[in-house]
Amino acid sequence: MRILVLGSGAREHAIILALLDEEAGHEIVAAPGNAGIAASPTSSARGSVETIALDPADPVIVADYAMDNDIELVVVGPEAPLVAGVADALRTRGIAVFGPAKAAAALEGSKTFAKRIMESAGVPTGRASLVDSLPKVTEVLDEFGAPYVVKADGLAAGKGVLVTEDREAALAHAAHYLQQGPVLVEEFLDGQEVSLFLLSDGTSVLPLSPAQDYKRLRDGDEGPNTGGMGAYSPLPWLDERFGSEEAFVDEVIETIALPTVKQLAEEQTPFIGLLYAGLILTSRGIRVIEFNARFGDPETQVVLPRLATPLSGLLFAAATGGLGELPRPEFRAEAAVTVVLASEGYPESPETGRRLDGLDAAASVPGVHLAHAATAVGSTHDDTEPHLIATGGRVLNVVAVGDDFAEARRRAYEAIGQLRLDGGQYRTDIAARVAD
Ligand code: AMP
Repeated sequence: MRILVLGSGAREHAIILALLDEEAGHEIVAAPGNAGIAASPTSSARGSVETIALDPADPVIVADYAMDNDIELVVVGPEAPLVAGVADALRTRGIAVFGPAKAAAALEGSKTFAKRIMESAGVPTGRASLVDSLPKVTEVLDEFGAPYVVKADGLAAGKGVLVTEDREAALAHAAHYLQQGPVLVEEFLDGQEVSLFLLSDGTSVLPLSPAQDYKRLRDGDEGPNTGGMGAYSPLPWLDERFGSEEAFVDEVIETIALPTVKQLAEEQTPFIGLLYAGLILTSRGIRVIEFNARFGDPETQVVLPRLATPLSGLLFAAATGGLGELPRPEFRAEAAVTVVLASEGYPESPETGRRLDGLDAAASVPGVHLAHAATAVGSTHDDTEPHLIATGGRVLNVVAVGDDFAEARRRAYEAIGQLRLDGGQYRTDIAARVAD
């Protein structure tokens, strides 16, 4: 198949690596991609990949490109193109696209929309109130009590949410985002977090394997929220509580995914793409903390390497209908861990343009591969030779697979220890709790 993948992060790199791993041998175009994606094998027996400089969030440019280049499937990686209506433009032209229309992507783009859909569908979530003034924020914060949860309504790349014991900090966060519109004050939900990805064709859903990510910047879940600093999959501790991963997944499908997909279909906004359920397992049951409308980053980097079913077939069936006829995707019984290398200053103000070295040594650790997030080939002022430079906050993911978590984790940290980036930061406790 000729497949266009939109986006430039480690998530898109992981998707492309999974597609390239198939026997079928796909022709993949990444727009715009990154240096790691561009360096993927270009003419192996297993397919090819090229990168093109194209704005992935411009509906007309993307649709024109797909038409002119006989693209058979478009996979939308990040949220921005979805919210900009890229999937709508492609569908209008009859091109198969894995990614929801703008109206359905509001499930991620507007927390208020998501809350309303969940309420109509009877999906369990935290109590929340949308408020438009500081006095009302104060009132609701005091009603729910500490810890306080304040969320900006729109997209904020994981940074619009504050969870804190500090009432003054909660008020300051609310005051900041109130300048842009109403904010959501939510009750605090206590429990383990789980990310579950579900493929949806608008009617049926198929689950992938659950993962857990690490949102906070520093070890021990300290520091600010980030886009995600690491992840692991599967979640062995689900067995204790639910009997098996399958029993947990069944419950999420019955009580959360199918009701949500049905509600969206009834409102004439069918959800075609990746329904990402961000869940908290509270003592009172499973609760949704958020929905996203695309693959999660970094969870994708640990879910897809374990996928034994060809990804392209799943994405194409979701895009064109007929997911209901397919069996559930299968996963290898391996442990996968990813650790994110971030630039100094991330997430507030990352230092970019610094040289990145040691990739070959890192990738040579058994069971390890690298998923690039923000890299480019360039040069720093003190070098004349072009080399790899960091171009953003989250720079690179080390992904390690092993027979168990102890092995996967050891491999991931051996590999990340080989990387060199001035001021680079990473967490040292990813998957520690499951590796004992
Ligand atoms: P969100 O962008 O809504 O996923 O929030 C980012 C992170 O904040 C989540 O992954 C949780 O760790 C935390 N969080 C969000 N909402 C709540 C909540 N109601 N209770 C506890 N933690 C939350």
